Formats: sequence, structure tokens, C-alpha cells
Amino acid sequence: MTQLDKAARILNLKPSILAILKKPKKILQAAIPIKMDNGEMKVFDAFRVQYNNALGPYKGGIRFHPQVNLNEIKALAFWMTIKTAVAGLPMGGGKGGVIVDPKKLSPAELERLSRGYINAFKNFIGPKTDIPAPDVYTTPQIMAWMADEYAKFVGHYEPAVITGKPVELGGSLGRDTATAQGGFYVLNELIKKLKMDPKKTCMLIQGFGNAGHHFAHLAYHAGYCLEGIADSKTAVIDPSGKGFDYHVIEHIKKGKGVVDICECHEIDCDCKDHKHITNMQMLEKDCDILVLAALENQITSANAGRIKAKIILELANGPTTPEAEEKLYKKGKIILPDVLANAGGVIVSYFEWAQNMYGYYWTEKEVQDRLKTKMISAFSDIWNYSEKFNVDLRTAAFVLAVDRIAKAMELKSC
Ligand code: NAD
Repeated sequence: MTQLDKAARILNLKPSILAILKKPKKILQAAIPIKMDNGEMKVFDAFRVQYNNALGPYKGGIRFHPQVNLNEIKALAFWMTIKTAVAGLPMGGGKGGVIVDPKKLSPAELERLSRGYINAFKNFIGPKTDIPAPDVYTTPQIMAWMADEYAKFVGHYEPAVITGKPVELGGSLGRDTATAQGGFYVLNELIKKLKMDPKKTCMLIQGFGNAGHHFAHLAYHAGYCLEGIADSKTAVIDPSGKGFDYHVIEHIKKGKGVVDICECHEIDCDCKDHKHITNMQMLEKDCDILVLAALENQITSANAGRIKAKIILELANGPTTPEAEEKLYKKGKIILPDVLANAGGVIVSYFEWAQNMYGYYWTEKEVQDRLKTKMISAFSDIWNYSEKFNVDLRTAAFVLAVDRIAKAMELKSC
């Protein structure tokens, strides 16, 4: 909301438009009764927040997590509204969730809950109204059950109602690498603007899951020098300063994490070609680019003063707090903000929807080429806004998104 207010001030936004943007358009809530395998009934609280649809149908994932709450879902739905607008998609923002620990459910219970979610909200979702997707602890299999449940309701298979499906059921090629690929395209644009040479640029990556690992792969092959990688267990740096070999990165991925960098599989190993440090020490190491691909709130006002990287790329959602960002901006650091840097995922979700609507499917190369065009255009729009209004890239992204949404709202006279 602070970012929204800031964007509104810069744009001199009409108070009526700002008032509408401050609240979700619709909040849906349901209690879903599920028969457990032992015959008992359990009731799960579920939400769907439809934040804004000025630019197109609501779009956003569904998370299954014990800590889900309505305030969080509202905030995430707002975030999606900004992200789809930043990416220039003909879509709005929404989000859903169920308060549940999915690890405690059997596959059959999980299937009944997934189908129950669709039954609860089936009258409010649809390819032209609201298109859910996966989020924390929801998988392509869950999307498949949900799409199948929706098919029973409308009487035919309607793949465009939900994205993140398995490829066999209408999912898009290239979805698994989309977030990393999208972030990589915007980084390359920034590097070109700053006239930096990837081969003389060193990088640290925090988080080595889907986003971080694919990103490491792309960066390595583009010639960047990978000097440090971290996950939840440990961080490793390359003491030579020449960067890790690619086989090291692949070796880690095949194991259970960064600790598997060598045959010792130990945090306190004394191998010569790498050194273990803590995750927080790695964030503060001297380097050109710091890629945050793990969790929220990693750079806070407590450690912002010690961050040496010139560029911070946010593949994770919310890894830099607003207070930290202010400090970093004053020190001349450039943050490629999450709403731009990790938008590759939602862009390829939109591509999945578009392919489903047409019933015509693209090759992986076509998906990547179209993603590249969209990411470069979003970067260039945000860069121009940041110059025009003399603001950081996150503020520019919010201004761009709010401007697009507000114009659509005004044209519809709402
Ligand atoms: P993932 O679960 O595949 O990987 C997460 C990684 O972070 C793992 O390597 C884990 O060990 C590491 N990690 C966890 N806690 C850590 C800690 N305290 N310190 C260092 N590392 C830690 O998740 P992912 O899909 O790669 O997503 C990563 C981030 O990117 C999340 O914030 C997610 O919301 C965001 N994101 C992902 C996508 C996507 O398509 N995958 C899209 C948009 C945003």
C-alpha cells in the first residue's frame, strides 16, 4: 500500500481510482468439508481474492499452507495485479489459498481437497473471469485435478480455466525454466545499459531450487563468473575468484543441495576448491551481482549497509524490505525488483492460457522467444519510467502498472 500511495502521488491519481485500488474487488471465502481416509469429516477454510480485473480476467495462484490467512491472500492478490500490469498482460490480479498442511494429507485426501476447492468457487472462476495457477505447495497434479473437476461442472474439458497444468493436459512447454529465463533476460538488458561485460562480472546466487538453479545454468553459459551459491543448509564460495566450473553446479543439483558440492557431503569439509561460509556471510561478500532466489526479507535494514553487490536481482518475492531498499538506493545500488524480475512465470502462464484458448501449441523455442520479447519490453518501459520520474526501478514498476490499470479503469468509467 505504501508503494501504491507513492505511485499515486507521482501520477497525481484521481482519489476515486486510488480508493478502488486500495481494496480487492471481491473476497470469496468457503468452508470445504472433506471426507478423510479414516471416514471422519474435516472442514478446511479456503479463500479466493479477486483484486482487480480492469485489464483482463483475474490471475493468480492457489497456495495450500497451514499459515494461509485472508490478509496474506489479499496482499498477494494486489501483488499479482501489479505484476500482470508490469508485464503488459491482458490480465488482472487474484490469489487463492487453503489453510492446510498438505504434507499431512494422503494423495486421495489431497485430490478431494483440490476438487473441493473448485466446487466451492466454480461459479466465480473461468477462462474469461478468473484463472488460478499453482503457488506454494500446489503442483501440476493438483492443477490437473482442478481442471478435471471444472470440466465436470461445465460439461467439457476447458483447459484455459487454470494454468500450470501438466503438458499432457494443455500445460505450456518452458514453464519450468520461465522464471529464471525471464530474470536472465532483464539482467542482460541492464548489463547492456551499464556497458558491463558478463565475462568480467561476478555473481552470487542465494537459493538453488527451481529459480536459482536454472538461473545459475543460464548465467554460467553466458560467461558470468559464479563465485558463491547458497541454499538453506550452507553457502559455498570459490576461493580462486575464477568462478565455479559447471560440473560443480550440476553435481550440486543432482545431490540434495549445496552441501553436495564435493564428495565429502559435509558442511565443514576441507576441500581446496571451495570454502563453506554462512548464508548471511555470502550475501555480504564483494561481488557485482547478487541474485536472491530463496525467501522474503533477506536484505533488511540490519544488513543493507553491508551489502557490496552493485546489482541485486530479485527472483524471490519480497527478498528486500522497503527500509533496506531505501538504504541501498541511497548507496547507488540497482535493484531489479521482483514484480519485473520474476514475472517470467506469470508470462508463461499467460502463454499457456493463450495456447489453450486457441487450441494451438507452441514449441519451447517459440515460448522462449515470446518471453524474451515481453521481458525486454517490460524492462524498457520501467527503465523509461524510472528516468522520466527520477525514481528507483521498483517505484517505476509500480507507477507503470498503476498508470496502465488506472487508464483502463477510466476508460470503463469505474
Ligand atoms: P524452491 O523451493 O524450488 O527453492 C528454494 C531454494 O531456496 C532452495 O534451494 C532452498 O534450499 C533455498 N532456501 C530456503 N531457505 C533458505 C535460506 N534461509 N537461505 C538460503 N537459501 C534458502 O523455490 P523456487 O521455485 O526456486 O522459488 C524461489 C523463490 O522465487 C520464492 O520466493 C518464490 O516465491 C519465487 N518465485 C518462484 C517462481 C517459480 O516459477 N519457481 C515464480 C515467481 C517467484
